[in-house]
Amino acid sequence: MRLPRPTARPARTGLVRGAAALGVIGAALAATWAWMGTASSPPHALPPPVAVAPAVPLLAEAELMALFPDRPTLLRLRENPRVFVLLFPSLAAQGAAMNRAAALVEKAGLPRDRLLDGVELAAAIARSGDTAETWYLGHDYRSADLARFLALAERDRVALTEAELWLRAQFVEALTLSGGEPFALVSVANPGGALDAAMRSAVLRHEIGHGHYFTLPGFTEHVQRVWRTGFSEAERAAYRAYLGREGYDTGNDELMANEAMAYTLFTPDPRLFSPALVGLPPAAVERLRELLHSGLALP
Ligand SMILES: [Zn+2]
Repeated sequence: MRLPRPTARPARTGLVRGAAALGVIGAALAATWAWMGTASSPPHALPPPVAVAPAVPLLAEAELMALFPDRPTLLRLRENPRVFVLLFPSLAAQGAAMNRAAALVEKAGLPRDRLLDGVELAAAIARSGDTAETWYLGHDYRSADLARFLALAERDRVALTEAELWLRAQFVEALTLSGGEPFALVSVANPGGALDAAMRSAVLRHEIGHGHYFTLPGFTEHVQRVWRTGFSEAERAAYRAYLGREGYDTGNDELMANEAMAYTLFTPDPRLFSPALVGLPPAAVERLRELLHSGLALP
């Protein structure tokens, strides 16, 4: 999620969140094996990956909301254990770990097939009028997205930063715990700077909403169906205009549906989302909220 934008700005294009479908588990496992250095080891020498993975606490959403760790921390959502949550002590720490992955996965006009170097990443952030801290308030990825990020780093022998190496370790841990099933990895930072406590709660809830979308196939399909047939054309246009003002790629219909869902159902902060911001009557947004919510069944 981005900071709210008070003025109109051009929509970013070319976002490929949904296109990161190159073999979720295949890529992830291949990358994992490569990091573990097992590719060239004799089969007998395989290390026991499960045995070394420490437990990741399962916490309810309300518990995550009340947690403000002083160091980056991996947790797992009790209501939907396929959603892993990274809590960062600051927007700066979050940006350091996540921004280069965001550039690869979803930023328009940036390479989809290689990682940026540090200079390119800083230039891309500056061009958008942001800093590394403000580029994102929160992040949300499918496991396949992060697997691709890590596989490209491995392929091109790109040196990851210390923060990115930490992210890689959390990904491997989540992969191990997921037993090969796709998962989502979302993040938020502790309040500070552009992010106050109420906004932090709303961002965390918003990103968890994306986590549900990424990991509950029935919900994914429901949201897409409601976007296509439950929203009127005028309502879709209003949401597209709002999301475009916030910097999202309005040409990516899957993203529009996913974001419309996350803002409508999971963003309880009127500075980030309200019927007035989207330009629709409250009753219209309430009707869409009920439609979207009717397809959410947590496991
Ligand atoms: Zn979002």
